[in-house]
Amino acid sequence: MGVKDIVIIGAGLTGLRAAQSLSEKARVTVLEKNDRPGGLVQTKEIDGFKHDHTGHFLHFKEKAKKNFVRKLVAPEKLLEIQRKSYIYTDRRYIPYPFQSHINYLPENIRRRCLVEFLKTRQEEDDSPYSSFYDWMMREYGRGIVEEFMLPYNRKMWTVHPRELTTEWMGRFVPKPAPEEIIGGIVSQGKSGEGYNAVFYYPEGGIGLLADKLAGEIDNIIYNAKVEKVNTEKKEVIAGGKKYSYDRLINTVSLKEFAGEILSPAGKEFSEAAEKLSHTFLLYFSIGWDGDTGKELPRRAHWVYFPGDEFSFYRVGFPSTLGAGLAPKGTSSAYAEVSFSPENAPSEKNILNIKNDLLDKLVEAGIIPGREAVIHALPEIIKTAYVIYDKNHNKSRSAIIDALARRDIYTGGRYGGWEYSSMEDALKWGEDLAELCLK
Ligand SMILES: Cc1cc2nc3c(=O)[nH]c(=O)nc-3n(C[C@H](O)[C@H](O)[C@H](O)COP(=O)(O)OP(=O)(O)OC[C@H]3O[C@@H](n4cnc5c(N)ncnc54)[C@H](O)[C@@H]3O)c2cc1C
Repeated sequence: MGVKDIVIIGAGLTGLRAAQSLSEKARVTVLEKNDRPGGLVQTKEIDGFKHDHTGHFLHFKEKAKKNFVRKLVAPEKLLEIQRKSYIYTDRRYIPYPFQSHINYLPENIRRRCLVEFLKTRQEEDDSPYSSFYDWMMREYGRGIVEEFMLPYNRKMWTVHPRELTTEWMGRFVPKPAPEEIIGGIVSQGKSGEGYNAVFYYPEGGIGLLADKLAGEIDNIIYNAKVEKVNTEKKEVIAGGKKYSYDRLINTVSLKEFAGEILSPAGKEFSEAAEKLSHTFLLYFSIGWDGDTGKELPRRAHWVYFPGDEFSFYRVGFPSTLGAGLAPKGTSSAYAEVSFSPENAPSEKNILNIKNDLLDKLVEAGIIPGREAVIHALPEIIKTAYVIYDKNHNKSRSAIIDALARRDIYTGGRYGGWEYSSMEDALKWGEDLAELCLK
């Protein structure tokens, strides 16, 4: 069959790349609820500062993707940056990753981490990991888990790691090498491990990537929020207008699409959608006069905060990227606070969180003083991280398979309901385009 009309919902990286891949092979319409492209990949300018939706750095698995992005944004605009990241623990900054830098901590912590790690090497257990928590305990031992992995992950995921499976981990959580851990306990100086030791970033903000991609696509309709998709009539309703399709690509949250947008949905979709869980993210984009405080290591890119005394779990510093994101003589940061959607904060709470957060940033030596702050703007990402609990795989697959039977192909971080990156979104776009043409 010659596919004629393909409608794509969402002009984030997934939708944009799908549209670009399909451009000469079908009639494509992209429907986007916002007035600009990019979804999470946008840069906003405020008071001369450029803020992304928290940190958005490119880590490439595939050389072809790196070349694609380099060409798109122009080679000289894609900066290659050596990561400088830290963990704030025991009232000091130690280099990331934790397990390679335990020597920076007091003797009692070093001893405990070593003894508990050695215990894990004595236990022979080949059974599959029952949870993310089981994995960390068996691979790292109670010391490292309780000092860093457990408090940090509980804060970020909003649930105990016992409730998470290991499906999502892949390259995101490094598997320990004994020599790395023991080496990091006996001496200092090792760094650079993990999946993001080097990262790439376009000069002027990550939004450039989406803007360039959108520039290559003809038919993007903005301010067109998709309200309903009628699978029987093969019709999309957005902004009061109807769009017919032969094939549909969805990139908006699978939970929202299956639970609210699809019609007629039926139990098959609504019950599975109900079981999909995610985190809700509140973050603050902050700009201030002057440098960062003296305690924070120079030119740090981001810091993890596992401690309960801080509401936030990570703080990053766009102004240190050397990408022209902050006016001369100023600094900028984003600070991320995670919630389960049931506990999402009210407006009044957001104000209290902001005040406490700014005080804590001063205390931790990041902002020189409250009086230096130019702005601290709250932003919300309602669906931030997909939670890989026991329902994740089954519910997600059930929806994706049932949609494909109705000529709807769904993908991307939220449309595919997974933990994935910008590079993965580009790949999703290509794969969805191919599926549509089959
Ligand atoms: C806090 C955070 C930090 C991240 N950091 C990194 C990082 O450092 N590196 C990295 O590689 N990746 C990072 N990511 C992941 C990255 O943002 C995503 O993988 C990628 O942007 C997903 O693109 P997408 O197009 O699939 O989804 P989205 O960007 O969510 O795009 C979906 C689009 O659909 C639109 N839409 C929604 N509902 C409707 C509707 N009803 N009708 C019409 N349009 C609609 C939205 O406005 C949006 O434009 C991060 C993600 C988060 C949440």
